[in-house]
This record gives sequence, C-alpha cells and structure tokens, in this order.
Amino acid sequence: MNYKLYIGKISGIKIFIHWTFVLLIAWVVYNDIKAGLETADILWSVAFIFSIFGCVTLHELGHSLTAQRYHIKTRDITLLPIGGVASLESIPEKPKEELFVALAGPLVNIVIALILLPFVTWSEALEGLGQVGGSNFLLSLISVNITLAMFNMIPAFPMDGGRVLRALLSYKLDRVKATRIAASIGQVLALGFIVLGFYGNPFLAFIGVFIFLGAQAEARQVKSRALISGVRLRDVMMRDIPLLDSKLTIRDAAQQLLAGQNKTFVVMNEGRPVGTLSHPEIIKALGEQGENASLASAMDKDLLYLDAELSLESALKELQRSKKHLALVSFQNTLLGAVDIQNVTEFLLIRSAKQK
Ligand SMILES: [Zn+2]
Repeated sequence: MNYKLYIGKISGIKIFIHWTFVLLIAWVVYNDIKAGLETADILWSVAFIFSIFGCVTLHELGHSLTAQRYHIKTRDITLLPIGGVASLESIPEKPKEELFVALAGPLVNIVIALILLPFVTWSEALEGLGQVGGSNFLLSLISVNITLAMFNMIPAFPMDGGRVLRALLSYKLDRVKATRIAASIGQVLALGFIVLGFYGNPFLAFIGVFIFLGAQAEARQVKSRALISGVRLRDVMMRDIPLLDSKLTIRDAAQQLLAGQNKTFVVMNEGRPVGTLSHPEIIKALGEQGENASLASAMDKDLLYLDAELSLESALKELQRSKKHLALVSFQNTLLGAVDIQNVTEFLLIRSAKQK
C-alpha cells in the first residue's frame, strides 16, 4: 500500500501526502465530535492539523535543501500521520555534512516559532494552551514547533538527534562503529517509545516501531557498504564462467542445471557471448516451448558488460537497475569473467567472516 497524493514541487522536490493522512483527520474530527465541540472549533482543529503538517514539510525541506548544498538530491518528501519523511538519494558520509543536514530540520521549527512569537497577543498568551481555537491558534502552533524541534533532537537514531549523535561519534570513531553505537541507543529509546505508547499516545508506539526497524536497517546497510568499499569487480568476479553452446537445446541446459551448482549460463556462438540463460528462463522455456527448443529462443540476448575496474558498489547498482541475473566482466575489450548475485553474496560472506 503506497498510495500517496502529489501536492506540489518545491525547488525540484516533489511533495506527497500519504493516504493514511485522511485517517488522522477523521480521527481528530471523530474525537472532536465525541467531545461535543461546535463546528467552528472542529474546523479550527482541522486547520491546526494542516498547519502542523505545513511546518513538518518546512522541517523536511530544511533537511533536503541543506543536503542539496552538498549535492545530495531528494527523491521526494512524503507526509505521514506520524510525521514527514524526506527520502534523500544518499546519506551524507562526511560527519560535518550529516551534522548540518540533521540539524537543519529542527532548526527550521525553532525559526518558525521565533517568527510567530511577535504576533502572539497578550490575551492569547493569557488564554494559554488547551483546546485549539481562534483565540490561541498561534500560541499552540509555536508550542508544537518547539515540541517538534525537541522531539526530533532525542538521540534515537535514525531520528535527527540520532544522526547528530552518529555524526559527532564519527569524528572520533569509524563510521560502522559510530552507526552501531547510535543504532543501539536508538533501539533502546525506541523500545521506550513503544512501551510509553501503549500507556498513552498510540502514535508514539508507531514511531517507536519505525525507529527500531529504521535503526536496524541502516546499521546493516552501513556495515555492508563498508564491506564492499574499495572492492573492484575484478576481485569478485567468477573467472570460470559456465558456458553453453548456442547450438544446444533447452534439454542440454536443464541437464547442466542438474549436473552442477551453476544457475546462470553464458551462451556462446563461435567463441563470442551472445546471451545469458538463467535458471528461471530455462524452467520457463522447458514448460512453454518444450525440451527441443533452441537456447537462442529462451536466452536473454541483451548482454550487460561491466568494466573490471568498476567498484563493486557501482556494479551492484548496475545489476539492480538493469534487473539482470548476470553481467559479463571485461577489460579493454577482453572478456575476463562474469558476476552474479550469488557470487557477490559469497564474497561478502567470506569477507565478513574474515573480519570477525
Ligand atoms: Zn527531521
């Protein structure tokens, strides 16, 4: 379920509202009606929700526009009932950049609060917080912005405060270690949110779950990126490529599947690669075209060549982008080997075992 409504574009960044946002409005209106509020007050509280999410959007734009300064693009900003998410294409790796990008969001909320402050009247200040209405709207919005800034600065990685913490740790420690510490603290705090959420605000429990899973995913990602950093495709590739002659049939290919561990083959014609044939392609051809079908009719003729000097990280991106099972590895027009997901996984397992 990923239905979201496009609401506009700011500085090239698309902004979306997630459909569950409707549930939040419905929930607020339902509670207002249950509390016996008048229509005008219900409208005020709905207007308040929209204003909050306006501020959340500005908060996310704070992150995105700061990231833009470091040449990091934002895919989009999505507003969820539990807050906004700016999907940056990558996370800044330099501690200083991550620090500034993380701080920019909460800073926006502080600036909003400071801008609104002079407009608060004495009567509004005396009215105080409580049920939001026309008489205390600004004051409530200021208090929300201060709360947003403070809440986001809780060092629960991957929340802003947690990113600040990792950035600060990264000045002294390597990134994997810094992330591990920040993620562990984040997960402990997330469990606290979940427990508190059960006794009070259910949104807090949701946020806790998000933080817990987010911390886990990012710690893993940083670790695997560290594992592959500095690795060239040349170091990973298979030098013995499983080959099949293009004159063979699907029956021969199926026999090769049974005979060994190979799952993807390169189809050769007069010494030159002409296609690749993967396990699912062989099974599909066997079912649809029968045993005597030619390999040429079943193979993927669109070959992906990667340079042996390419970094493993870029190679993986290429494989993912092209949705190929296997890529051929060449250097200066000479075919050296091939790479597929299995042998990359094998490489990572070996490397991570060595590092323990
Ligand atoms: Zn933020």
